[in-house]
Amino acid sequence: MIQVRELVHRYGDTVAVDGVSCSFADGEFVVLAGANGSGKTTLVRHLNGLLAPDTGTVLVDDRDVTEHSVFARTRVGMVFQDPRDGFVAATVGADVAFGPENLGLSHEEIDRRVADALAAVNMQGRADERIDALSGGEQARVAIAGALAMEPSHLVLDEPFTGLDWPARKSVLDRLVSLAASGTGLIVVTHDLRDLIEHADRVVVMRDGRVALDDTPEAVLDDLEGHDVRRP
Ligand code: ADP
Repeated sequence: MIQVRELVHRYGDTVAVDGVSCSFADGEFVVLAGANGSGKTTLVRHLNGLLAPDTGTVLVDDRDVTEHSVFARTRVGMVFQDPRDGFVAATVGADVAFGPENLGLSHEEIDRRVADALAAVNMQGRADERIDALSGGEQARVAIAGALAMEPSHLVLDEPFTGLDWPARKSVLDRLVSLAASGTGLIVVTHDLRDLIEHADRVVVMRDGRVALDDTPEAVLDDLEGHDVRRP
């Protein structure tokens, strides 16, 4: 469970997150939507302690993320918009193994996690392939596998479809839907709700650093006008 309480984040004079309170239950699939600049990326970077609050708190399983940042990063996995920013190794298997290796796990456990994570994104048997030879959609799925290998309770994906063509977008979307079905909590940041919203348990819409809507997909769709979110 992630709990955000009265969170405020400023960049100089810009108040990017302006008193947000919300929570994300284990296993819940939440779409975080809103116009460019509404504060989505800033908010999610607080969920595993990548940013520190000006005021307010974020708790992961009741622990304050600023005091327990290592714990928060093992519970809340983060996949960034451009996966190339996150790769640390040349091959698929080495990249996905990097996180578990840093946890000091046994070789058997690391191998199991890498195999499970690659299977979860439909990349099984491809551990020896070079990342730079993969398609954009495959790279996006390897980035997701890298986060999954930490076996987090929540996975945060910031604009995971940016730059992907339709087949790649579909391959990532299918993997997200199956991950949600298998019990991983998902928080997907997007300004584009196509295909995604129907699978979500909840939609949170941000505007000007605040939560403007927080409701079921059906209720949010009825109320989207004025939030600059592309309707499906
Ligand atoms: P979104 O993810 O919804 O596009 P962001 O969290 O990226 O929103 O941005 C929220 C606000 O904070 C915007 O006004 C943006 O210009 C500003 N902002 C974001 N990152 C920085 C930064 N590193 N330095 C200064 N201002 C920033």
